[in-house]
Amino acid sequence: MHYDIVVVGGGAGGLELAARLGRKLGRRDGPSSVLLIDRSVFHIWKPTLHEVAAGTLDAHQEGLSYMILARRNHFSYSPGEIIGLDPQAKRITLGEMRDETGHQVVPERTISYTHAVLALGSGSNFFGTPGAAEHAYVLERASDAERFQRHLLAAFTRAAFAEHRSLGIAIVGAGATGVELSAELLEAHALLQEGFRADQRFRLDITLVEAAPRILAGLPEKISAQAQLALERKNVRVLTATPVTEVRADALVTAQGEIAADLIVWAAGIKAADANTRLGLSVNRANQFVVDDHLRTGAPDLYALGDCAACPWGEKLVPARAQAAHQQASYLAKVLLARRRERSHDAPFVYRDFGSLVSLGENRGVGSLMGGLGGPNFFVEGLIAKWMYMSLHLNHHRAILGTGNTLVLALARLLQRRVSGRLKLH
Ligand SMILES: Cc1cc2nc3c(=O)[nH]c(=O)nc-3n(C[C@H](O)[C@H](O)[C@H](O)COP(=O)(O)OP(=O)(O)OC[C@H]3O[C@@H](n4cnc5c(N)ncnc54)[C@H](O)[C@@H]3O)c2cc1C
Repeated sequence: MHYDIVVVGGGAGGLELAARLGRKLGRRDGPSSVLLIDRSVFHIWKPTLHEVAAGTLDAHQEGLSYMILARRNHFSYSPGEIIGLDPQAKRITLGEMRDETGHQVVPERTISYTHAVLALGSGSNFFGTPGAAEHAYVLERASDAERFQRHLLAAFTRAAFAEHRSLGIAIVGAGATGVELSAELLEAHALLQEGFRADQRFRLDITLVEAAPRILAGLPEKISAQAQLALERKNVRVLTATPVTEVRADALVTAQGEIAADLIVWAAGIKAADANTRLGLSVNRANQFVVDDHLRTGAPDLYALGDCAACPWGEKLVPARAQAAHQQASYLAKVLLARRRERSHDAPFVYRDFGSLVSLGENRGVGSLMGGLGGPNFFVEGLIAKWMYMSLHLNHHRAILGTGNTLVLALARLLQRRVSGRLKLH
């Protein structure tokens, strides 16, 4: 099987890229020219996983089938997990797929390409902390978030019927994921309590543990301070400058002592897959493919984007964010279309930081917006920040569904929530 353009990984960046290319090439040329491969059969925008984990978003309502997205956007889709790459022969090997009973669904396959893009995203970085992989929940895939949500629901029920009437959750890492998850869990708890009798209500104790001196360490100090204040006002215990040295089944061990918890979530950093080191490409310590400022790996006609790519940005690397994956997808769409038409596209990729927004629950957000050319930094908070945060999600849907379908979907979900409630309890 041969395709002109193969995109491996249909996440925030890869799916937008395949959709842009497919729509540009149209119904006639798109499906025979562009192939998207993903190990999953449905797409969910990763920045919503903390909502899936808290039960305030249903992954199966939110998820969009790749097969349908492919048809709408005129590209081809194949399920599969990349297990091998021959960069010189330009061939990708996909592993065999089996069902739950162990029966083979699809055998191992090889696909050849003229141009390929790796958009494999990233997973968790445990920094070698003993017990973290065994005992902590992570939010890498929709299935991780759903697993946590099932266990959270059981823990909620247990707490409602227990004598001590309390539930302790410890979150390691106070970056955007840890902070947003804390806020969403508070929201889920508040919604749940509304449905309980007074004698079933229980206390939720969230402890957010961060090794750095402040939460949201990568964002401006004003945002950290506002977010910490908002969380502490809702009784979240925020511990900064507290490195976790061990994770046990029921506690975190830190230099300052042990923190008991019923559930532990690890959100302390990202690292790309170990399997990336076996693809014959140059990778950095975080297993990201090293690319130049044109997103080229060292191999012929092979690019990488998003979290799995180490792309230079001045002295630093482009941050692992959805907005970076989105910008890189737009850039590569132009490059690949130009190459298809045998035109040159020499301009390098330039990352533009438009600022950062953090959700602090249903009606609250906080963030900073960068002015033109990195100019003045505007601080936003409250409902406006929350709406702007939500508009990023809508923008992603617009890129893969078009404006009309995005509006219909947003309205349908609003109505669904009105009828079924905001919290998923089954
Ligand atoms: C809870 C949470 C909240 C976040 N909030 C924000 C936010 O507010 N703003 C922001 O900018 N960023 C946020 N991020 C980060 C953002 O989600 C990522 O930076 C972004 O999704 C990266 O896009 P990507 O395309 O590189 O990878 P992903 O979106 O992770 O997609 C990778 C895709 O590759 C597929 N894949 C992986 N390995 C293989 C394989 N071997 N073979 C085939 N397919 C494979 C996966 O199934 C997936 O579909 C958040 C992340 C999390 C977890």
